[in-house]
This record gives sequence, C-alpha cells and structure tokens, in this order.
Amino acid sequence: SVTKAGDYEGELIMATNATFPPYEFVENGEYEGIDVEIAEKIAEELNFELVIEDVEFGSIIAGVESGKYSMGMAGMTVTDERKKSVNFSDTYAVAVQSVIVPSGSDIKSIDDISSEKKIGVQQDTTGDIYATEDYGDDAIVRYKTGPDAVQALASGKVDCVIIDNEPAKAYVKANDGLELLDSAYAEEEYAICVSKNDEELLEKINDALAKLKADGTIDSIVSKYISA
Ligand code: GLN
Repeated sequence: SVTKAGDYEGELIMATNATFPPYEFVENGEYEGIDVEIAEKIAEELNFELVIEDVEFGSIIAGVESGKYSMGMAGMTVTDERKKSVNFSDTYAVAVQSVIVPSGSDIKSIDDISSEKKIGVQQDTTGDIYATEDYGDDAIVRYKTGPDAVQALASGKVDCVIIDNEPAKAYVKANDGLELLDSAYAEEEYAICVSKNDEELLEKINDALAKLKADGTIDSIVSKYISA
C-alpha cells in the first residue's frame, strides 16, 4: 500500500535489491547482509519495525520519491543525478567499481576495455551509467541483477562485467573460472535515500547512523561480512 511520505505507521519500509552480497542477499529464506543489519539497528533506534521490500534496483528511487517506501538502502551510490530525485543520508561505506573477466581474458587491465567489447552491467547502477558514458550504449549489455550479468559472463555472452567491488568478490568466489582485475574503475560512497518530503526521517536516520558509527556497531557489522 502506498503511504504518504513520513507516515509509515510504525514501519520503516526499506526498498532493496537482495542480490548484492555482502550488502543484501537471501540466505535460507532470510534477508542477510551489511545493509540489512544496519537497517535493523536504525529501525531499533527509531522505534520502527523494519519491513524489507525486495525490488529491482532501478525502481527503488521512484518508489522512495512517491512515498511507497520510507527509504532505499541497496549499496546505493550517492550521485548528483540521483540527488535531484531523493535526499541521501550521511554515507556509511565506500566502494569502487571493479571489473570481472574470465580467467585468461585478453582484458588484462581497464585500458583493454573498449567500445569493441561486450560489457555486462546491472541495469540502472553506476556501473551501467559510467560504462555507458565511457564506451557507448552499443557496448553495454544490461541485466536485471548482478548474478544474471555474471552468469552471462561465465557463459561467454559478454567479455567483462563492471560492478561494485564487494559483490564482485562474492560472485567471483561463487563461480569458477572468473577473476577480478586489480585496478578499480570508479570510486563511490554508499548512503540511504529518503524522499525529499521527509526531512524529519532523514534527520533521524542521520542521528542513528552517527550513533551506530560512534559506538562501533557499524564497524562490527561490516567486519562480520568483510575481512579487512
Ligand atoms: N552502487 C551501485 C549503484 O548505486 C550498485 C548498487 C546495486 O546494484 N545494488 O548504482
């Protein structure tokens, strides 16, 4: 049901795309991951019940804008373009875009990627946006999820996949015959997005984040999933 921004009847409705380990994924029928655990702590601080809506990454911002979800938390990179539609919280993680290739690929570094290659991306992500800018629409093959893009790479349909570094590591670990290039493609910061009509929620989320950063909660959640 669509609620007015700011009126979520005691629920914190988090829109995410749960195909993005270690930030959000489904294991044994449960939502797990860094974002999920941080969101649970934020909900606790705010005295809300956390409700997770697993949707396509590209529909999160529109749903937050319209008030369907109270926030979007999905390893989401802060960009100027997205800031036109939603407000972002303080950032809680940094990331880079990485390149996955099949072992033995002729793509040995980022300089070997060109508009002649087929580049797999997750639709509407910063990997999609930057790669489209750099190599042109014709070079880009868009998939609904990261795992779909990685499957296409494993079966030879694309030459590389550009995607956030931590999910990239998880996907490479889960699939034989793939590896990560050493060099990073772009640096970015993750934050939670909230409707522009919901300044109060944004402030509360920032207060909760500050507390969870200061008392070490965020660090301890991150270190459960990412080894330093
Ligand atoms: N960080 C990337 C973005 O914001 C990818 C996020 C995702 O796929 N969940 O576009």
